[in-house]
Amino acid sequence: RGKTINIFSIASGHLYERFLKIMILSVLKNTNRPVKFWFIKNYLSPQFKDVIPHMSREYGFDYELITYKWPTWLHKQTEKQRIIWAYKILFLDVIFPISLEKVIFVDADQVVRADIGDLYDMDIKGRPLAYTPFCDNNKDMDGYRFWRQGFWREHLRGRPYHISALYVVDLVKFRETAAEWLWCESWCGNATKSKAKTIDLCNNPMTKEPKLQGARRIVSEWTDLDFEARKFTAKILGDELENPDAPPPPPPP
Ligand code: UDP
Ligand code: CA
Repeated sequence: RGKTINIFSIASGHLYERFLKIMILSVLKNTNRPVKFWFIKNYLSPQFKDVIPHMSREYGFDYELITYKWPTWLHKQTEKQRIIWAYKILFLDVIFPISLEKVIFVDADQVVRADIGDLYDMDIKGRPLAYTPFCDNNKDMDGYRFWRQGFWREHLRGRPYHISALYVVDLVKFRETAAEWLWCESWCGNATKSKAKTIDLCNNPMTKEPKLQGARRIVSEWTDLDFEARKFTAKILGDELENPDAPPPPPPP
């Protein structure tokens, strides 16, 4: 079945845990390779931690919960969102066991449509990090591309900006194949949607459409994947299937 694909992600909160299950299912449905998921333990709910071992058995994937304590010498972050972003990128050198040689970070709100093994296998030619190319074809969003002005423009000096929703890869080879792995409606526009291999539910700073609404509108398979994940979760927890638009469950006593 080939070499294991290692995927790293993070989720905090009911909505993002729901997204994360869908990301897992979408990865598994598009590859025959063994997959191991690595999740940051810090922000996962007890419910998620209950369900994930069952999901791993049912769908045949491996997983590990990992954690790293915020170093005392590192400037403290108080905003949850910023802490999450830091965990996505800052501790890559210390958060995994030494034996792990390669990992792909995938945002929890992403839906994968291609074999992510192809991305995993790309030769990144000794570079430590490689980001998938990102698009700028959605002209309506030109005014919102903050990286084209001011600080970011200076900082990049003509080099391309990448969002951090999906990374690792040999950029040179990637450009040769001109594959558009990472697509999201806000920045890419609909002309290239049919070629998307993963779809991220990027926030849209112009419309501010809620993520759930966007998910159903943008990703045709999202509702089925969500139903499957919720049905499975309810079965494991012995709960009734919740209403798809219900607010998050109360925290356990
Ligand atoms: N995230 C999370 N909880 C939050 C916000 C973000 O777990 O409340 C994680 C999750 O993995 C998410 C990633 O951080 O996919 C990036 O945030 P988001 O996808 O909302 O950013 P966008 O792609 O819209 O810029
Ligand atoms: Ca995202």
